Amino acid sequence: MQINVSQLLKEPIGATRDYKVSEIVDITGAGRMVQGEVKLLRTHRGILVKGVLHTEVELICGRCLSPFSCPATLNIDEEYTPTVDVVSGVPLSSPEEPGSFIIDEHHVIDLTEAIRQYLLLAIPMKPLCREDCAGLCSNCGHNLNQGPCGCPVKEVDPRWSELSKLI
Ligand SMILES: [Zn+2]
Ligand SMILES: [Zn+2]
Repeated sequence: MQINVSQLLKEPIGATRDYKVSEIVDITGAGRMVQGEVKLLRTHRGILVKGVLHTEVELICGRCLSPFSCPATLNIDEEYTPTVDVVSGVPLSSPEEPGSFIIDEHHVIDLTEAIRQYLLLAIPMKPLCREDCAGLCSNCGHNLNQGPCGCPVKEVDPRWSELSKLI
């Protein structure tokens, strides 16, 4: 997902551009529809990209092991620094922080890597297909979201039932 910012780089600090995003982005080998809006702001160092993007990822439920589609919201907030001077074309010293995002020599910002990184952060550690996922029967492995299995209901250990009375 590329945005040419050569015009914006020539404008004074504080100048902005709004971009509507609606594109298939190849994030993890599979194309994902990414939609939303970003604002580009000319800063003294480069271009600040701020905005909210929405996409969906295929995840495996940690409880019932079924694949499901999980919506993800990405709050992008990244500053991109130029590698060449937009007016003179003279190469600029590379940004001090490693891993920071750059505007390439054609004055193009590529949002793909930022989207990929934000998406990794947005994915839950223990994804659930739904809040109240019933999971799998520990006895026969049946997916209990599809209804009960034929297994006998487990007797509650009497020591636990004593405890639950106390609670
Ligand atoms: Zn589930
Ligand atoms: Zn069962």
